[in-house]
Amino acid sequence: MKPRSVLIELQPKFERNAAIALANTQLRRNMGKATQTIRAKRAAVVHELDDWEALREAGRAIKERTLRHLDGYLLQLETAVQRAGGHVHWARDAEEANQIVVRIAQGHGAREVIKIKSLTTDEIKLNAALKAAGITATETDLAELIIQLAGEHSSHILVPAIHKNRAEIRELFMRTLGLAELSDEPKELAAVARAYLRQKFLSVPVAVSGGNFAVAETGAICVVESEGNGRMCLTLPEVLISVVGIEKIIPTWQDMEVFLQLLPRSSTGERMNPYTSIWTGVAEGDGPREFHLVLLDNGRTNVLADEVGRQTLNCIRCSACLNICPVYERTGGHAYGSVYPGPIGAILTPQLVGVEQAASLPYASSLCGACYDVCPVKINIPEVLVHMRGKAVRHKQDAGGLKALLDPENAAMRALATMFGSRTLYEAAQRLGKAGQGPLVRDGYITWLPGLLSGWTAMRDVPAVPDETFREWWEGREDRETGGQGDGGAGGGQP
Ligand code: SF4
Repeated sequence: MKPRSVLIELQPKFERNAAIALANTQLRRNMGKATQTIRAKRAAVVHELDDWEALREAGRAIKERTLRHLDGYLLQLETAVQRAGGHVHWARDAEEANQIVVRIAQGHGAREVIKIKSLTTDEIKLNAALKAAGITATETDLAELIIQLAGEHSSHILVPAIHKNRAEIRELFMRTLGLAELSDEPKELAAVARAYLRQKFLSVPVAVSGGNFAVAETGAICVVESEGNGRMCLTLPEVLISVVGIEKIIPTWQDMEVFLQLLPRSSTGERMNPYTSIWTGVAEGDGPREFHLVLLDNGRTNVLADEVGRQTLNCIRCSACLNICPVYERTGGHAYGSVYPGPIGAILTPQLVGVEQAASLPYASSLCGACYDVCPVKINIPEVLVHMRGKAVRHKQDAGGLKALLDPENAAMRALATMFGSRTLYEAAQRLGKAGQGPLVRDGYITWLPGLLSGWTAMRDVPAVPDETFREWWEGREDRETGGQGDGGAGGGQP
């Protein structure tokens, strides 16, 4: 199913954005400190489990089995949610999902909704859609609130304000919440946010959440979080709307035991999240009176159709791949220009929106493989990156027109294809290379090339064209074996 409109906001030129981010030394300092801390915490709790690799394998296997039978599990989930008193809505794309949420909120006369941190609602730009309908959405996660007050976008899946330090947050709170005095002590900053949010929890009638897992067998939805704001949103308002991507489904209740071990350890480096909320439909006298589940496609079925790319849908959004990635650590999340930054964003975003919309993202990686090593559901991110790079190149080649004809990479590839297709041209190129490389060679390598090719040698050395080609070496082997005596016929035997 092709999404009619995918509302992920893109600034697709990663290399341009990265160059700007790299010049920001404060950002690099903040990012380096934060990612190193989370990495160390994760490593400590992962190493204390003897069966970590078996857990990863189990997570991968459950996700892959689920995707193979996704249609059946989705229908099973729908039946289970309805049986438990909930309402299920199907949204093909961002537009449909936003319309559903707006309609429900308006149906209850809501002028305001409170939100639990949710990447899925960020992906569909729900807050903007609500605003357009005259409804204010207030983020209740501390970091999301900081981002919202700053009018910025998140830069990390789990820690949206990772690029901000305490002093910057203090200044933001004083400016936007009208405070005359405030220290940059975390306790005091949290107290300010708590006081601001508490009256929202108690007065706003509609809450919107995402969902970490949706259990097909029972219709239960699970949200894991650290601050308790989610628990407040899930229990206090009259109406709860959960927008959940169709890939978040797991078949059985028992499967949760695998993911509830994998996720907290991989994300916050904890053995268990402080708050794990699980709800099934509605219950008399407990929690919301009305529950709506919005099941979102928005390009996911396109990802499912790609045999290599579909493993991306295994993702449980833990952010371990971001924290380990040397590229992400240096550029931060904004450089990716997408709700999903880091290695997972580099493979997910181009698949959701089409590679032509985000062709630079699969190149935002050194392919070192660290992301694959830490991924709790064993997504082979480097494999998908290379696959997406192939798609990006093919798209450029297939685009046609003058732009495609004059594209330097396309032109270089056409020239190389012509050269490799002709022995005469190939040997001529070898002779030319040998003759022209002289001053560029140092210790057997070409360390500098002119013009556009300098982009390659800026980071890598190219082996010099050898004095003797393989063919020349092969043809001269008999001479070498006989000490230059050929087949012995003309040389006259042994001395
Ligand atoms: S790709 Fe793997 S490591 Fe990265 S966020 Fe998803 S589950 Fe976590």
